[in-house]
Amino acid sequence: MKLNVDVLRYLSKDDFRVLTAVEMGMRNHEIVPSELVDRIASLKHGGTYKVLKNLLRHKLLHHDSSKYDGFRLTYLGYDFLAIKTMVNRGVFTAVGRQLGVGKESDIFEVQQEDGTVLAIKLHRLGRTSFRAVKSKRDYLRHRNSYNWLYLSRLAALKEFAFMKALEEHGFPVPNAVDCNRHCVVMSLVQGYPLVQVNQLQNPETVFETIIGLVTRLAEHGLIHCDFNEFNIMIDDDEKITMIDFPQMVSVSHRNAQMYFDRDVECILKFFRKRRNVHRFNLSFQETTIDVDGSDVDIDETAWPCFSSIPKATGFLDKELAASGFTRKDQDDIEKFIEGGIEKDVNSDDEETDDEDVSELNDTNVKSLDSLHLVEQEEPSLNYKREGEKENGQKCEVG
Ligand code: ADP
Ligand code: MG
Repeated sequence: MKLNVDVLRYLSKDDFRVLTAVEMGMRNHEIVPSELVDRIASLKHGGTYKVLKNLLRHKLLHHDSSKYDGFRLTYLGYDFLAIKTMVNRGVFTAVGRQLGVGKESDIFEVQQEDGTVLAIKLHRLGRTSFRAVKSKRDYLRHRNSYNWLYLSRLAALKEFAFMKALEEHGFPVPNAVDCNRHCVVMSLVQGYPLVQVNQLQNPETVFETIIGLVTRLAEHGLIHCDFNEFNIMIDDDEKITMIDFPQMVSVSHRNAQMYFDRDVECILKFFRKRRNVHRFNLSFQETTIDVDGSDVDIDETAWPCFSSIPKATGFLDKELAASGFTRKDQDDIEKFIEGGIEKDVNSDDEETDDEDVSELNDTNVKSLDSLHLVEQEEPSLNYKREGEKENGQKCEVG
């Protein structure tokens, strides 16, 4: 999804006020009646309708008149609210090029006042899953009471909480900087997803480090659940960073063993596919043209075994609660994501990334516990252009 931050420059204080009013209305309405938006926004000189039209033009809102005249936020509208809040907090000042498109997220570079570049992850939970709703998959049939705002916010909060806790325990993860709505701000990871790397200097060390992480996570009471070559970043010094935590579960989860084994298997599969695995299949070694020519000795008999790992418990409860991520949040998101995990295992159909939010119309809305609203008075929005960057536009928000 394209995030045209240029639009930010043209949005006024009133625009953001009305956008926030729609967000507030969405606590209780899937489509927020226009009159309600007007009442919540209560612009001093009226004019809500004109503002709504402007927001609609910039695709920050979606208009729906099927049952009554009303509006709801689009992903873009939600993005802008989160970005604006972060800018107001002084977390970053500019949004740059897109770094990645995940299954259920978009990742962008952002820049701080002193020039430091960070990454933001905008969660889009529901992007693929709501497509699944459309295809009437059983596991989601009775779960459509969660809306994408709520789920994306939960996913971000969970990711932020886990990232922080993992970092404190010395795991190689990005530095968790801040979180608002569905947006997580983190340090920029140097390097590339492992899937893009063809040449490894020390494949054994890399392999052992990665497998060691799965084990160490379990010792801390956690399973990543999406541990694969897409969620492992590696830099030029072959330093590993793991990313992408919204689907993590506790080792006390009833399917813990299956998730653990699957994480391990994903890594083995990747190394098997990409490299000569000496110890197990010598003929394979002779006949296969290895993509990168590096070999790995893997001793599958020394495979991490879930049942023999001494596992800590209570990690989730104690440490995550401190970040505002509650047990209820955990249960809510786990129920939803599990559908996704099962779907991944059983999936036989392709899904595309750019689900149009208008397709999400017929889902019911669960009232949101607490949407974080724009906390302070909006400063005037005069956005200053910083100029073009090599890889894309950068727009400074001043
Ligand atoms: P998803 O949950 O949608 O899979 P990820 O967290 O895995 O999202 O991120 C998707 C991609 O974005 C990654 O594969 C990576 O290329 C890039 N990315 C994510 N986080 C960072 C980061 N902190 N620094 C640099 N690139 C990142
Ligand atoms: Mg990922």
